[in-house]
Amino acid sequence: MYPVTLALRGCPVLVVGGGEVALRKIEGLLAEGARLTVIASAAVPGVEELARRGAVELRLRRHRPGDVAGFALVFAATDDRAANVRVSEEARDAGIWVNVADDPELCTFHLPARVQRGALQLAVSSDGGAPFVVRRLRQVLERRLGAEWSEWMDAAARFRRAVRALGLPRAAMERRYDAFFGASVDRERLRARVPGKAELAAWLAPGGDVAPSRVDRRPAEGEVGALLPFTARAGAAPGPRPGLVSLVGAGPGDPGLVTVRARQRLLAAEAIVYDRLAAAALPCELGSQVALHCVGKEAGHHPVPQEEINALLVRLALAGKRTVRLKGGDPFVFGRGGEEAEALRNAGVPYEVVPGVTAAIGATACAGIPATHRGEAVRLTLVTAHESAKGDGSQVRWDLLAQDPHATLVGYMGVSSLPDVAARLVAAGMPASTPAALVAQGTTASQRTVVSTIGGLHAAGVAAGIRPPAIFVIGRTVRHAGALDWFASRPLSGERLGVFAPAGELGPALDAAGADLVETPRPLTPAARVVISAAPLTGWLLRSAQDVEALEEERALPGWGAEVCAWCLGAPAAERAQALGWTHVLLLAEGVGPEAVVAAIADRSPRAASGSARKA
Ligand code: SAH
Repeated sequence: MYPVTLALRGCPVLVVGGGEVALRKIEGLLAEGARLTVIASAAVPGVEELARRGAVELRLRRHRPGDVAGFALVFAATDDRAANVRVSEEARDAGIWVNVADDPELCTFHLPARVQRGALQLAVSSDGGAPFVVRRLRQVLERRLGAEWSEWMDAAARFRRAVRALGLPRAAMERRYDAFFGASVDRERLRARVPGKAELAAWLAPGGDVAPSRVDRRPAEGEVGALLPFTARAGAAPGPRPGLVSLVGAGPGDPGLVTVRARQRLLAAEAIVYDRLAAAALPCELGSQVALHCVGKEAGHHPVPQEEINALLVRLALAGKRTVRLKGGDPFVFGRGGEEAEALRNAGVPYEVVPGVTAAIGATACAGIPATHRGEAVRLTLVTAHESAKGDGSQVRWDLLAQDPHATLVGYMGVSSLPDVAARLVAAGMPASTPAALVAQGTTASQRTVVSTIGGLHAAGVAAGIRPPAIFVIGRTVRHAGALDWFASRPLSGERLGVFAPAGELGPALDAAGADLVETPRPLTPAARVVISAAPLTGWLLRSAQDVEALEEERALPGWGAEVCAWCLGAPAAERAQALGWTHVLLLAEGVGPEAVVAAIADRSPRAASGSARKA
């Protein structure tokens, strides 16, 4: 076997088959710019959707002799071996390279397993001899190689262009490459960092080719590396057209509240810069070629400074990347989205804003608190309570807010400053008996609501162990929280369950029952790992031994506590899980309907066990 990488842009490629396996191949090929024709007697919705959008030409019929003519590559992925054999033979006779899914003998080329970080790719292959090794090695590398390699690769390519533009002799060029590599790659830990502007300039300057000292170092937590766009020297090619930056609201946490447009932008992105609070909104099916940049932003953690985030967005855009800045809630509601828009405008980068469901709207709705209500609340005020925590309450007129009994007041970032806020409101005349609530992790499986009065809310919140992110809600409509609690009274409220795609009938059933469903490709993508780690899982639905195997090495992920139930549909999955020493393995008969699955999970739910606790 002889490895090559193919430049497929504009290249005519035929895929025979329209199932999930074919769909994965099609998506990979489209990402490389191939011109695709799909021949299939039936197609899964994903393939149909691509055809509707004009991304592939779909011919809904069986394969016929002569179909392969004119194509540069042929893939067969039907579930009919005889058909696969015919396609393979025909392609071979015509001298066209052919790959048949899971059938090495019918292939004239194999597809290696890939680990991809932007333009950097590692391919793993065992020549068909031991695919199990390939899968595991790929997982190891997938985990070891951080997201930063994507940016590093871009920086390396820019550096190479700049070095070549200097027109130096070979040896002098190589010494500059040594300097770049030596300073930016930690070979022990397989970490990389993007060199700073000054470093790059020094290596490019005359005499910049002195051998590097040992400068391996691990990037500091949250470090983003070089923050200014690196401009190559005269003679280098001009940069690409700046990519569009979409400032996207991810909604308050429930992935079901991500807007249609937000999802579109995420699926089209080449780079995503996300806050931790927005992590659960990432589509799990994002390919590993999408560069994911986490920039923190969670109470108590050291976030990447705003200026660095701005610079990162500018740099990605100027490198031509379609970029999504994914922020919790709405980007312009206490999200510093305005500052990012200004930075982009100042750098001449095109941008757009995709609004999101803000926490005040999402969390109150899911806590059964109407934001407005006839006769009770005719005004809704969103306020950041953080100001007063810093001892500078001057921008918030708590005294005026205290005077309006027909208003709902929602405070962001206010858990720690609640005693101070309450004291100011009461001092300015708000009755201490005014209904008030704290809603933490609103709209998610971890949502907690505490209802009290403005006078008692802080103590009640402390007693209930409420932690950020949380909003406080003050006003008459809070009193509806108990009666209108539709959210926590659903049978699977509080459950966050993983399942490998496609979830089929289970998807809508679990969703309707109130579970938060994480539906991810198998094997897990880097984006899926981020999503899983974003909040605790309560269980995983397993439908085969392969499902279990695919998760065996993933159970160390942060979202995966010791209590995660392995709901096995059928004995093969359960037996495999037990053989691997999993705990909390629960067997459901193979082929049971979605209602039975919902009922079984609801039965075991800790909330069910504590009965009325969920209503409290
Ligand atoms: N742009 C965001 C707000 C960011 S400020 C929005 O529009 O929602 C972060 C604050 O938002 C948190 O401190 C908390 O007060 C609030 N918040 C965000 N998500 C929340 C959630 N799911 N439940 C309750 N409060 C939330």
